[in-house]
Amino acid sequence: MAEIVIRNVRKEFGDFVAVRESSFTIEDGEFFMLLGPSGCGKTTTLRMIAGLELPTSGEIYLDGEEISQRPPSQRDIAFVFQMFALYPHLNVRKNISYPLVSQGMPRAQVREKVAEVARILGIEDILNRPVGGLSGGDRQRVALGRAIVREPKAFMMDEPLGALDAEFREHMAEELRALHDRMGATTVYVTHDQLEAMQMGDKIVVMNNAVVEQFGPPQEIYDKPATMFVADFIGSPPMNFLDFSGKLAPGASRVKLNGQAFDVPALREGAQGDLVFGVRPEHVRLSDDGAYRGKVLATEYLGTTQILTIETPNGVLKARTGAEKPVRVGDTPALSFVGETVSLFERNSGRALR
Ligand code: ATP
Repeated sequence: MAEIVIRNVRKEFGDFVAVRESSFTIEDGEFFMLLGPSGCGKTTTLRMIAGLELPTSGEIYLDGEEISQRPPSQRDIAFVFQMFALYPHLNVRKNISYPLVSQGMPRAQVREKVAEVARILGIEDILNRPVGGLSGGDRQRVALGRAIVREPKAFMMDEPLGALDAEFREHMAEELRALHDRMGATTVYVTHDQLEAMQMGDKIVVMNNAVVEQFGPPQEIYDKPATMFVADFIGSPPMNFLDFSGKLAPGASRVKLNGQAFDVPALREGAQGDLVFGVRPEHVRLSDDGAYRGKVLATEYLGTTQILTIETPNGVLKARTGAEKPVRVGDTPALSFVGETVSLFERNSGRALR
C-alpha cells in the first residue's frame, strides 16, 4: 500500500516561493503525473515527497502516517533520476544488487532478487556486462532495476526519459507503463510533456508558477480544464479562446458571439464582463449555411485531417477537420461548435465558469 497525501504544502527558498499551498492525493497504485512548464515547481514537489527537500509548511502523509520531516532513508520511497547515476566500472548485476548488498542481505537472496528483477525488465542476458558500454535504453532498465529491487512503497521519477530521442522515448514510455501495470507500485512521474502525461498517467496534476492549477484524470483535464492555462497547455493545437463580453444568468445555456447564439453546457453560476469562449480545434464545425462566418487564413494538411487557421469576429481560431473536403485560403465558411464541449472562462482570472 502507498497512498500519498499532500496537504497545503509550501516550499520557500529564501524569499522565493517554489511551491504555493498545494493539496492533492495520490492513490495506492496510481501512475501519477506532475506536469507543467519549466520552473513551475514540479521537481521541488517530487523531492519533498521523497524527502530530498523539506516543506516550509504543510504536511505529507504516506499511508496515513505523517512523513513531512522524515529523512529519505525513513520513507521507503525510491527516486529514479534523469541522469541515472550508475557505477560504470561495475557490471549490470552488481549495479542492481548494490542497494541490497549495502543493506547486508544474504548473497543467495540477493541473487534471487536480482534474477527476478532482470526477468521483469528483460535484461537477463546482459547481467554480466559492464554498464559502461550499454545503450541508453539498457542503462535506463538497469537504473530502474536498481530502484525496484528494493521493493519500495513508491517510485519517484524525474523526467526519466528526458535524455532519450523521440522514437526511443515513446518505446520506453510504453515499457515503463507496462512495468508499472505488472508491479502495481504507486509511481509519481515529473514531465513537462503534455502528451506523455496524457498517454501514461492515471491522474495528472498541472502546475504553473508554483500553483496547482488542476488535478484529475487525463480526460477530465482535457474536457473540463479548470483554467485557461490548463486549456492552453494541454492539447495540440491547444484550445481556442474567443473573446466576448456579456452577462450570463445562473442556468444560462446559450451565449452570443457577435450577435449569434451558441449552445454551451448549462452554468451553475452567473457571470458578466469580459468572458472567453473556449473550444477545442476538433469541435469546430464548418458548413455552407449560417450567419457566424470566418475567413480561412491558412490550411495545413495532415493526411486524414487538416488544421485550418480561421479569422472570426471574436479572434483567430484553429479547426481540425476531415481532409476529404477541400478548403482554400480565402474561403468564408459558416462556423458552429459542439456545444457540450465548450468551456467558458473569466478573462481576468482565467478561471473556468461552472
Ligand atoms: P524544471 O523542469 O525546469 O526542473 P520544475 O517545474 O521542476 O522545472 P523546480 O525544479 O521545482 O521546477 O523549481 C521551481 C523553482 O524553484 C525554480 O525557479 C528554481 O529555480 C527554484 N529552485 C529550485 N530549487 C532551488 C534551490 N535549492 N534554491 C533556490 N531556488 C530553487
